[in-house]
Amino acid sequence: MPDLLKVAKFGGTSMADYHAMKRCAGIVGSDPDKKVIVVSATAGTTNLLTEFIAESDKERRLDIARRIRFKHLELCNLIQDKFSPQKKILGLLDELEQIAVRTQLMTSMLRDDILSFGERLSSELFTAVLSEQTGKDAHCFDVREIMRTDNNFGSAEPVIEDIARLTEEKLLPFLDHKCIVTQGFIGSDSHGFTTTLGRGGSDYSAALLAEALDADVLEIWTDVTAIYTTDPRIAEGVKPITEISFDEAAELSVFGAKVLHPATMVPAIRKNIRVYVGSSIEPDKPGTWIVKETKDHPVIRAVSLRRNQTLLTVHSLDMLHRFGFLARLFTLLADHKISVDLVTTSEVSVALTLDSDMNTPGKQKLTDEVLVELRSFCEVEIERDLALIALIGNRLDTTAGLSGPVFGALKEINVRLICHGASTHNLCFLVSEKEAEKVVQRLHKTFIES
Ligand code: ADP
Ligand code: ASP
Ligand code: MG
Repeated sequence: MPDLLKVAKFGGTSMADYHAMKRCAGIVGSDPDKKVIVVSATAGTTNLLTEFIAESDKERRLDIARRIRFKHLELCNLIQDKFSPQKKILGLLDELEQIAVRTQLMTSMLRDDILSFGERLSSELFTAVLSEQTGKDAHCFDVREIMRTDNNFGSAEPVIEDIARLTEEKLLPFLDHKCIVTQGFIGSDSHGFTTTLGRGGSDYSAALLAEALDADVLEIWTDVTAIYTTDPRIAEGVKPITEISFDEAAELSVFGAKVLHPATMVPAIRKNIRVYVGSSIEPDKPGTWIVKETKDHPVIRAVSLRRNQTLLTVHSLDMLHRFGFLARLFTLLADHKISVDLVTTSEVSVALTLDSDMNTPGKQKLTDEVLVELRSFCEVEIERDLALIALIGNRLDTTAGLSGPVFGALKEINVRLICHGASTHNLCFLVSEKEAEKVVQRLHKTFIES
């Protein structure tokens, strides 16, 4: 077992092409402590596989499979013959084309199997580039041997105890003499069927492996130099965050900052593993450290935006001076595996927000069946095309004078719901999707730029 162990994750843009992979190999090569490397599919490949899955026409599916073939063979051909994984890559590409031809009925199990090709291809390629560029003894390890999940295909839940046991049995023995490259995003259920953790799930995979290995550091290498005070695609004047606490980073990711998958911080917090976020394009630029305790505790550290929100409002006169209504409502939602984010209640109504993101099929459940059940005991209203905005920081529940500037920035904006006071680290509200970016820009100007 090495003295210091780092798990490093490289995202899709970091795996974009041979040159991007070479840069990542340089980052791994310069640090002997980076022993476990978790990779995403090459940029755009998971989107292509999603198109493949949605396509019912065999010829068009084959066309997509051929685009994936071209892209990966082009990359493979740049690797020196001595290291080339061509045979394995061709095997995977042939298998994908056979699925394109043979599939009659798309099932959720088959969907996850198809989605896994992206990471299975990129990990073979990166293992070869790493060996070629650094002379390291790199080994491509199939993470499905250890990343045990339930069988909720599309949005599988990891089984932490099994992952710990399997990692110790099957992965740990390699670490004394090899550098391991493995796949993010994918896992397998107890029958060995391939599962996926949901879009963007490679960050979560890396955190789960860091937890199972008791790693000292988890590194997330991506296409931005650091975590910024808001998404740099939305506001000008964003500032890199040097240090942020576990709790703030967890809230930031849950409330939409795509730079970290929402569940990433959970294993890191459980095992107190420090997380570093840096750029694989400019690795020397300072990144962000996510730690248990930060030196500073600003009231507002960042602003985040989570799109595709649905507001569900239920009314019932039964709520008036009665008990049990909320329990009944939340039991129904829990039975249908509907995850609720914000909740506000009044005497006769409850308003709650849900993700309407179609990319996380396991979480999208406001089906007709749910609505019929809800309508059997209350009136229901649904509003879509909303966005959730969160101010993230410290002592937000007890800091005086915050609401003035917040409401000043929200002037003329129709705020559909506000949640304040439940968390010391966030103040959240819901606005229409159309106005969301403007609101983020205004809040960023008010609290961070000025
Ligand atoms: P990867 O492919 O490496 O996983 P992602 O695209 O999933 O990368 O995440 C990186 C992106 O997250 C950035 O390009 C940026 O646009 C977005 N992002 C959203 N919020 C933030 C933030 N607060 N700080 C940095 N990046 C953010
Ligand atoms: N390749 C997967 C996706 O694009 C997982 C990831 O990149 O984190 O969603
Ligand atoms: Mg990502």
